[in-house]
This record gives sequence, structure tokens and C-alpha cells, in this order.
Amino acid sequence: MHTLSSSDLRASFVNASKKERSDASLPDLEALDFDALDYLGWRDTKFDGRAYAVIPAPDGEPIGILLRQADATPRVRTQCSWCRDVRLPNDVVFYAAKLAGPAGKRGSTVGTLVCRDFQCSANVRRDPPRPFPGYDMDAARADRIAALRGASASFADRVRRG
Ligand SMILES: [Zn+2]
Repeated sequence: MHTLSSSDLRASFVNASKKERSDASLPDLEALDFDALDYLGWRDTKFDGRAYAVIPAPDGEPIGILLRQADATPRVRTQCSWCRDVRLPNDVVFYAAKLAGPAGKRGSTVGTLVCRDFQCSANVRRDPPRPFPGYDMDAARADRIAALRGASASFADRVRRG
């Protein structure tokens, strides 16, 4: 994804109040490799259970989403809806997002199961053992990356539409 500044991040939120935007703790952007990310997600260091994802829309515009981790965690290890990593390498939790606009003000939310610490981009880039000789590892990786971008962008678009 394109490199974003801290003001880009704060300006990108579609479902956060002015106060929530200014209160948000931001990640250390200098330490990030945006080339290796399909979206940027992080947990708030000040507010327990609050997290953010900034996801490029198909038109390239970054859509920032304020997420809240649901109290109920899945009882069994489960797959992330965005990266769909079948090896279940990390915890996956249920995040809810308030919809943008009037629907969100009325309390409507949409939820999704996502890697707790937003490890999706690393997961899709980690190749599995070659399942059979001649298996095209590069094409498979490109497919996983495209699927992650599609799934995260469609969630972001759902929140933005309100
Ligand atoms: Zn994931």
C-alpha cells in the first residue's frame, strides 16, 4: 500500500467521532514497511479493545475504520476472514465496526473475524510447503494477496457505505 502519514491516518476514519480520531494512538510509522502491507491495522495502546484498520479502497483512497474487539472470543481456534490462513498461526478475534453516517449513529455495526494483531499481510506472504512438484508458489502467493485485498476492501466499503 502507499505510505501514509499520521495526518493521513487520522483523516481516513469514516466511522469515528472527532474525539475518537484525536484520541487514537497511532503506530510508529517510521518502523513500518508499507510495501509489505495490504492494509495497516493496529491496536490502541491507551484504550483496551480498541483497534484500527486503514484499508485501501479499490479507488486507492485509504478507508480508516475504528474497531472494537468483542468480549466474546471464539471458543475454538478459527480462521481470519481476511487472510484465511489455514495454519491458524495467531489468535483471531471478533471485531465490530460502527457503520458510517446515520446508520452508525443509530447503533448499527458490522463485525468480522480478523487476526488479533492484524498479521494478515505477513500470513499471506508466508509460503506453505510445496504441496506437489511443479506447484506455482508465486502464483499461489499472488492469489492469497489478492484475496486479502479483496476481503478487507469489501469490509471497509461496507462500513463506509453506512
Ligand atoms: Zn488475518
